[in-house]
Amino acid sequence: MDFSLTEDQELLKNSIKEFAERVISKNLEEMINSRRIPDEIFSEFRRMNLFGVSVPQKFGGMGASPVEMGIIGEEIGRADPTASISVLYLVHNSWSYLISRYGTELLKASTLPKIASGELITGIATTEPSCGSDISAIKTRATKKGNSYVINGEKSFISLAIDIKERGGGFVTSAKTDPSKGASGISLFYVPYSERIEISKLEEMGREGSTWGALRFNDVEIPAEYLLGEVNRGFNIIHEGFELARSIIAVTSAAMALRALDDGMDYIKERKAFGTTVGKFQGIQFQLAEDVAKMEAALTMGYRALWMYGEEQAERRFNRFQVTREVAIAKLLSTVWAFDAINDSLQWHGAYGYSKNNLQEVALRAVRSFQLAEGSREVMKMIIARESLGHDYYRK
Ligand SMILES: Cc1cc2nc3c(=O)[nH]c(=O)nc-3n(C[C@H](O)[C@H](O)[C@H](O)COP(=O)(O)OP(=O)(O)OC[C@H]3O[C@@H](n4cnc5c(N)ncnc54)[C@H](O)[C@@H]3O)c2cc1C
Repeated sequence: MDFSLTEDQELLKNSIKEFAERVISKNLEEMINSRRIPDEIFSEFRRMNLFGVSVPQKFGGMGASPVEMGIIGEEIGRADPTASISVLYLVHNSWSYLISRYGTELLKASTLPKIASGELITGIATTEPSCGSDISAIKTRATKKGNSYVINGEKSFISLAIDIKERGGGFVTSAKTDPSKGASGISLFYVPYSERIEISKLEEMGREGSTWGALRFNDVEIPAEYLLGEVNRGFNIIHEGFELARSIIAVTSAAMALRALDDGMDYIKERKAFGTTVGKFQGIQFQLAEDVAKMEAALTMGYRALWMYGEEQAERRFNRFQVTREVAIAKLLSTVWAFDAINDSLQWHGAYGYSKNNLQEVALRAVRSFQLAEGSREVMKMIIARESLGHDYYRK
């Protein structure tokens, strides 16, 4: 067992750290005020090849491993308390990965170079107004018409929706190809944004720079080659995207919390009450110790999930169920603990912590999203229980 990074991974970590500290911190205030990710972030992402992290090198990407994707996610997570840049990074790259892995040659050749260059942004569209956790209940239909599929239906709570509409890109989209078969009748498609997709903006609690939207597909015709993998296998394939995104979320949440704890430590070393610095009170020290211990553990679990995911994808070891379980453990604990740790740091700041746009306040609202996005904490518990008790105990 070796927990160290390779020389190349250290270089990657340092370059992303430098980028994140310099570019993200410079743009933070503007992002919080405008509630959009500034253009400079997009152009810096292009310069650093951060839109091509999961895209193979032959299509212009970085061809990074899942662990390397986590290294980047960690550094962005530390620098971005709004989690918006983290979401741009992890949603785009996790779901582009499925195009690299399951796309037809035609789809890959026509999209991947543009995905890698940031000309096309990738989102995931699976949740619908009437169902989220229960993917088997989706109503969106894909009907075969000659050498095309025609998509009709509605999706909701879709991250990056407005960015994709304005900047170009598409959605990895789940749709029923055989409604009589439940989960076994779902297929996955790449659906490029077009005017036949009506997109409306949704307002959210945190993630200041992010955009969030509802989609209506009105007879959206796409080439049959935009199917990802085999027809009616979408339910299985989509979980490979979820697992990658969930593992990066585990690392990102831990990094956001560790940053908030660092800020909290700086504050309690200075702030005085009852004739001494607040950091000398054991009541605060014990809370800090528990938070640090939990978040360091969560970070390690996130990397373990990413490493297992990479091993399974390369068919070296582990099966899908083992990976699903470890990913769910990492995402559940990291997102719940991170919320608590950031909340503690907010508390140590007293009334300053509760003030609008204070780092802890921004991070608390942002990190809360990760207890829902890419699979809720209850769904993570369902997975862990199912994989621990056995599938006979799984009740849909
Ligand atoms: C910030 C944010 C970003 C998102 N981005 C995207 C995106 O880009 N693309 C996309 O497709 N979706 C996105 N979503 C949607 C997200 O995936 C869903 O919110 C999530 O899957 C839960 O679905 P739901 O909201 O429909 O809740 P429901 O499935 O309706 O569940 C309601 C509540 O019941 C709980 N629950 C459900 N089943 C069980 C059970 N068996 N046992 C116990 N509790 C249960 C749920 O955890 C939840 O708390 C996003 C959501 C958020 C908050």
